[in-house]
Amino acid sequence: MSSLQDPVNPEQSPGQQSTEAGNYFVSNYPPFSFWQPQQVPALKEALLTPAARDIPLGVYFHIPFCRKRCHFCYFKVYTDKNSAEIRAYIQAGMKEMQHYASQPYLKGRSARFVYFGGGTPSYLSVPQLRELTSQMKDLVPWESDAEIAFEAEPGTLNETKLEGIAEVGVTRLSLGVEHFDDHILESNGRAHRSAEITKAYRFARSLGFRHINIDLIAGMMNETEEKWQMCVRRAVELQPDAVTIYQMEVPYNTTIYRDMKAQGKVTAPVADWPTKRRWVSEAFDAFVAAGYTITSAYTAVRDPKRFSFVYRDALWEGADLLSCGVASFGHLAGMHYQNQAEIGPYMEALDQGDLPIFRAYATSHEERFVREFILKLKLGRSDFAFYRQKFGIDPRQFFAAQLEQLAAAGFASLDADHIVLTRSGLLQVDRLLHGFFLPQHRRYERYT
Ligand code: SF4
Repeated sequence: MSSLQDPVNPEQSPGQQSTEAGNYFVSNYPPFSFWQPQQVPALKEALLTPAARDIPLGVYFHIPFCRKRCHFCYFKVYTDKNSAEIRAYIQAGMKEMQHYASQPYLKGRSARFVYFGGGTPSYLSVPQLRELTSQMKDLVPWESDAEIAFEAEPGTLNETKLEGIAEVGVTRLSLGVEHFDDHILESNGRAHRSAEITKAYRFARSLGFRHINIDLIAGMMNETEEKWQMCVRRAVELQPDAVTIYQMEVPYNTTIYRDMKAQGKVTAPVADWPTKRRWVSEAFDAFVAAGYTITSAYTAVRDPKRFSFVYRDALWEGADLLSCGVASFGHLAGMHYQNQAEIGPYMEALDQGDLPIFRAYATSHEERFVREFILKLKLGRSDFAFYRQKFGIDPRQFFAAQLEQLAAAGFASLDADHIVLTRSGLLQVDRLLHGFFLPQHRRYERYT
């Protein structure tokens, strides 16, 4: 392909040096702004035909409740719901799942991976969690060795809660640590403090979860060189099975952006992109020195053979994802879909016996190829033979211009069969991926 936007020219791509408002993180393809309500009937139609036998299935359930709204959060979260309202939400989610489970496309299938995301799944009480998981398993059984991933906010985790999470079968606990400095946690609106992290982590370890991951964010408001070094040191000391490090973004729906707008500011009050990349790079170095392996643009893993990310890897290779809950994103029968983003319309649709889908998108063969190529490039390397075999498309030819530009700019090494990102390329992969979008999708995504 030719006449492409230059993926490495900062004048043309969203990788400005200072941090400005916007979502640059590429989580799916084609971008959400291309998904349309008019395509929802096509998804319902697609569910009437049984799936091919070899497509893995995952289940996602979204819990939109949090103790407090973080200043950098762009999700729709509810901080004021009582236990009756939460129970009603769970029941609505189960009605939704039941609707899907009865469709020919999903009938008789079981889940290879299950993901509880949010929001804050650990905000649920143990009885709510038991009720939710037992109903889910009745509707879509979980394979015996399925990965069951669960996001948790450290301040919600007392011993009873952690025991309950272990008891319902969670295999991968993902702790939203973000930082170890209390001033940074507080000034960014996080609900937990560092003492709660250590306590929750130690107890979780004693319960024998198969895989404990901690999340960090490089470049939160009030970050300094010393505090980041301390944060990395504390993270290494915990010896998690894996660490995921994100670079701070300031999307439009955040408190930080609202304040910027009120003050007429364009630059967000966080570190610039080169500094955030350097901080992640220094953290990667520290984890590598402690024996970890860097396995993606965001992840360092203690033993990659033992600690896998089934959910991520399966999705990036085109698995089906039955996604339930408000605002959640799914992928079934080659179609993307997203649910209603507000709890009111979501519950009303279910009350009326309808699926609460807001918009959908039928992907083409070429779009599925591009999607898989760009998402998997976040792993830092790509073997072109895989795509030739799976899609009949050779990335080396299809993306010749982009691949050569990446190599020429020092972001990758390239030969006829592989591309391997350099550390510098890996740390800004989301910026670079926009250059691989098909021409019709090449405008910068504003989160809508
Ligand atoms: S805990 Fe996560 S979902 Fe909840 S407000 Fe904070 S960033 Fe948003």
